[in-house]
Amino acid sequence: MIDLRSDTVTRPSTAMLAAMTRAQTGDDVWGDDPTVVLLQERVAEETGKKAGLFFPSGTQSNLAALMAHCGRGDEYLVGQAAHTYKFEGGGAAVLGSIQPQPLDNAADGTIPLERIAAAIKPVDDHFARTRLLALENTIGGTVLPQDYVAEATAFAHGRGLATHLDGARLFNAAVASGHPPAALAQGFDSVSICFSKGLGAPVGSVLVGSEALIGEARRWRKTLGGGMRQAGVLAAACLYALDHHVARLADDHAHAARLAAGLAQIDGVTVVSQATNMVFARFAPEDRAPLAAWLTDRGILTGAGEQTRLVTHLDVDADDIDTVVAAVRAYFAR
Ligand SMILES: *Cc1c(COP(=O)(O)O)cnc(C)c1O
Repeated sequence: MIDLRSDTVTRPSTAMLAAMTRAQTGDDVWGDDPTVVLLQERVAEETGKKAGLFFPSGTQSNLAALMAHCGRGDEYLVGQAAHTYKFEGGGAAVLGSIQPQPLDNAADGTIPLERIAAAIKPVDDHFARTRLLALENTIGGTVLPQDYVAEATAFAHGRGLATHLDGARLFNAAVASGHPPAALAQGFDSVSICFSKGLGAPVGSVLVGSEALIGEARRWRKTLGGGMRQAGVLAAACLYALDHHVARLADDHAHAARLAAGLAQIDGVTVVSQATNMVFARFAPEDRAPLAAWLTDRGILTGAGEQTRLVTHLDVDADDIDTVVAAVRAYFAR
């Protein structure tokens, strides 16, 4: 199968599985797992932060960060299109008693500063207390402009807000922009990074920030059920990914560009955008379901929504891209 539905579908390679079986372990709830400790320290160092914390998922890492920054009745400012707001089951409100204030994202994924300024509530008993600005990079595959990140985080800090980055695909942003992860993390009090996306690990996210912030997040991780025991077997996969799967993200980006260029040649396909490892394409409503079925019959998995997101990853190579383009061309030529 050529699976373009997401970069979460990658399977651990034989070499990654071997690294997992070699991992030294201990009880990580007690802080005893040397492989988890190593991963946390390494990610903290690569992102220029003081401390790191391993989580089973990015959803839990983001939520623990929000809960570490905000208390009951506090508010966080977040993009309308952001994963933390839109795709995490409303966890901030449901489990954190934190009020989200969603703000419309501009087309480039930023939230204009005047929208942020206008949403910060006055200190008054009528209002939730605005505590945090959360951004996402990459967002919909797009790398946030670094000038904007510097301005927005400085602005937020100037207004007394903390800053959180959902950097699920921070390494895609780093490879695509040429900025090191530490530069992309600068200005943020906390950053959450996923290892189960383009980096190709089966499980795992790491949250980084100050010692104090990570100490708070560790408490909430336990509360949320994310305290894992011999988690070194999982952390070993993430360490393997840091060693072997970062530079190669450039291949995924090249494959996405090749896919976008190929699809753009086909009558019946509108390529809306391509950035890093994602392509967004549109098809006429009457083609959506039949095309998805046609592709499935040929071993190609895609979504079939109003706008189809096609994601490249380490289990998709250049030949696969050409196979996909040929299959779409054949559908429209039938
Ligand atoms: C995948 C993802 C997450 C976290 O997802 P999990 O599936 O819980 O690991 C968070 N933010 C973004 C932008 C993501 O793509």
